[in-house]
Amino acid sequence: MFKRILIANRGEIALRVIRACREMGIETVAIFSEADRGAPYLELADETICVGPARAADSYLRIDRVISAAEIGNVQAIHPGYGFLSENSHFAEVCRSCDIGFIGPTPEAMERVGDKNSARALAREAGVPTVPGSDGLIGSEQEAVKVAREIGFPVLLKATAGGGGKGMRVAANDLSLASAWQQASAEAQAAFGNAGIYIERYVERPRHVEIQILGDQHGNIVHLWERDCSTQRRHQKLIEESPSPRLPQETRRKMCEAAVRLAKTAGYFSAGTVEFIVDQQDNFYFIEVNARIQVEHPVSEMVTGIDLVKAQIRVAAGEKLGLVQKDIVAHGHAIECRINAEDPAANFRPCPGRIERIVAPGGFGVRWDSHATTGYVVPPHYDSLVGKLIVHQPTRREAIDTMIRALKELRIEGIKTTVPIHLEVLTNTAFHEAQVDTTFVERMLAK
Ligand code: ADP
Repeated sequence: MFKRILIANRGEIALRVIRACREMGIETVAIFSEADRGAPYLELADETICVGPARAADSYLRIDRVISAAEIGNVQAIHPGYGFLSENSHFAEVCRSCDIGFIGPTPEAMERVGDKNSARALAREAGVPTVPGSDGLIGSEQEAVKVAREIGFPVLLKATAGGGGKGMRVAANDLSLASAWQQASAEAQAAFGNAGIYIERYVERPRHVEIQILGDQHGNIVHLWERDCSTQRRHQKLIEESPSPRLPQETRRKMCEAAVRLAKTAGYFSAGTVEFIVDQQDNFYFIEVNARIQVEHPVSEMVTGIDLVKAQIRVAAGEKLGLVQKDIVAHGHAIECRINAEDPAANFRPCPGRIERIVAPGGFGVRWDSHATTGYVVPPHYDSLVGKLIVHQPTRREAIDTMIRALKELRIEGIKTTVPIHLEVLTNTAFHEAQVDTTFVERMLAK
């Protein structure tokens, strides 16, 4: 087992990894940027190393600096968290050539699933249904029109390198396709340095259901059931839950099997997520793979009782999973709310600044994963996640009640947060009845 690992991330997920390591008796080296200097969670690491200025491109994204820190810190492995370098196969390869363990899949597997267009090809190879769409990348506006007419409007233009809901544009007809094409390729080039675009049929009012997978380096791979992340705003997840309400057992089983099949075809190990959309007739279609731990991993941990971060570390060190599929039973219902420093009254504008006072909720079935403390200043340079509130109860109804109680208990003063939106969703009758698709929040906000 590793004796000492470096965490190439910050905030909530850095703290999550530090906590897992402390319980496992592993020492941690935490890197930080100038903007995160003095952040309270850093005190829990055994060593901290500054890797540069506030701008992520000058610090958390600098492979040379992160590797130097790993060498200075004398670690055997790096946990990349999510975002930043976590899905950068070149980084995973550099780790390998420097003889530093990478707590994630191999660079080869990451490459196979990382690019969305190639992941679609891989899914087809594994016999996993994909959204009807182009066979590959689209070379010109004319070709886009031709393909869109074939698959039928409305269509979705997607950046092959995309993420975080960026680089996606819906087109309803030939005319809107022309401008969508221009916008999507420009946005993809600017945000990801890769203008590659492919086309999918736009599935009307789908649900987003994803399967958590976990594998070791000995060919064992299991799934930890599904998470429903349909409660989104602008293709960004707000609330995640497990199990997915209203998903027929048979569909659920098929989706889980499909995810494992895909992972096997890719030669994937470690934790990962296979994302699908489910249409109103309960047909499911693969959309992408996330080759890392995800923000919403705690809901799967709560229902299965498996610590995914510890499992990631163990399998990266070469240990066997020690689990077979039938051991993985999902109990009860878990819900997670992402608490962001954003102002819902001002179109969800990021709202960084000093937290004057924070009081975390507690009690039966409540988990609060957050690096924020009273006096903590949310820096403006990174994503606006302040904490994740997770609840676990025997039934969905009870989980909703606990979440409402915990959200009301949570006090964050000094900055605006997404708490009011969560309360609005959780007290909404349609949400109670699980009548939720990916357009639900925007329809609710438009009222
Ligand atoms: P990103 O990597 O940017 O998060 P995804 O491919 O995971 O992009 O898609 C994000 C969200 O966009 C999905 O959860 C879903 O709400 C929506 N979406 C993606 N593909 C489609 C589609 N073909 N039809 C309708 N909605 C889609």
